[in-house]
Amino acid sequence: MCYTIPGKIVEIEKRLLLVDYFGELKRVVNEFDEPLKRGDYIYAQSGLVVQKISKKEALLVLEEWKELFFKLKEEDLRLTQPKEVPSRAGIRSILEKSGTSLKKKELLSLLKLTDKEEQEALFQRANALRQERLQNSCCVHGILEFSNYCRNLCTYCGIRTTRKTLERYRLLPEEIVRLAQDAVNRLGFKALVLQSGEDLWYTDEMLVDMVKRIRERCGALVFLSVGTRSVECYTSLYEAGARGVLMRFETSNPRLYAKFHSGPKADLKYRLELLRHAKTLGYIVITGSLIGLPGQTEEDMLNDILLTKSLGADMYSFGPLIASSRRSDAPKGDLTTVLKVLAAARLADPDAKILVTTALETLDGEGRRRGLLAGANSLMINVTPPLCRKRYAIYPNRAGSELSLEQNIQTTRALLLALGRAPTDLGR
Ligand code: SF4
Repeated sequence: MCYTIPGKIVEIEKRLLLVDYFGELKRVVNEFDEPLKRGDYIYAQSGLVVQKISKKEALLVLEEWKELFFKLKEEDLRLTQPKEVPSRAGIRSILEKSGTSLKKKELLSLLKLTDKEEQEALFQRANALRQERLQNSCCVHGILEFSNYCRNLCTYCGIRTTRKTLERYRLLPEEIVRLAQDAVNRLGFKALVLQSGEDLWYTDEMLVDMVKRIRERCGALVFLSVGTRSVECYTSLYEAGARGVLMRFETSNPRLYAKFHSGPKADLKYRLELLRHAKTLGYIVITGSLIGLPGQTEEDMLNDILLTKSLGADMYSFGPLIASSRRSDAPKGDLTTVLKVLAAARLADPDAKILVTTALETLDGEGRRRGLLAGANSLMINVTPPLCRKRYAIYPNRAGSELSLEQNIQTTRALLLALGRAPTDLGR
């Protein structure tokens, strides 16, 4: 599977490139100062050049894509045609707004919708807005879970430090680099998230060295999801070539945060400081919250959306809570509430990338499809070796854990193609 298509450089102004994708022009930054000239072909991800490729390879890939590219766009357009859905005049007028024209109380009223048809009208509007603003690109990141050790104690999480029965694992740096190379060079991922619990066995120097080695060997954007390290650590990782941070703040409500999270640096204020710092450094920031925490209100969810926006998130990540306990009364988010949050986030920030989490698919087999049809446009595929994937048991029965990586790629591709989405990220 190809996760982005080659583009041809048509203009260069210092680090800023204008790149042609089948007649669509996008702005791309030559972040890593590749020696490039007009007429060269590149792969880009999130608006940054990740690889220069030969003309021969580019033309081969473009030949495969040329018909499909336009067919998918047509299908997406067809699926986003407005359907008449009965809803109150007040709701219809709110759904005509987006971005700064939407007031807080209007967004709140969307999160509080209980009527099925009105909820459907919200999802349709969010999906249509995604199509209008961002077309049918769907970015697909690989995610590699390299350690399930964590020093924290988040009460809902299956790899919290106090879970004594969990079989723990740590991949050695060389193994992580090798798996990253495989994901990028063999499987075609152009963005890779390196994720772990908060595991200080990996020193800052080890992480920096890993990022450097991956950058040297792979043309891909490296994201880190390693929790609350120091500001200095994130600065060094950026200098080493990492360009993305995935760190959710989990809830914007400090009281709720304190109730469910504890650990040496498990402090909402510190998490937010780090996210702001990461943004200032130039990182692509993925953040958001858990939906379904006991005691969470629609007002909290609204504040989660607004906080994500105010942090300048490049990608919103809202997933349902699925507690690690297998008890039938263990707390859980619900599909409709998460879909309402995804759709309201799309209306609040029409140009954002919005992720459908694996947790949503675990909660409901239709979760990924429904999320994509409610305004989302990003997915992740787990590239962790099967045994480790099983042990990264943040919640039980994670979707896709019974499938091989190749099967996961196939099912994701089939889903995207059925919805008219191109598994590519052409940037802005
Ligand atoms: S949610 Fe994250 S920080 Fe909390 S225990 Fe789980 S892995 Fe650790």
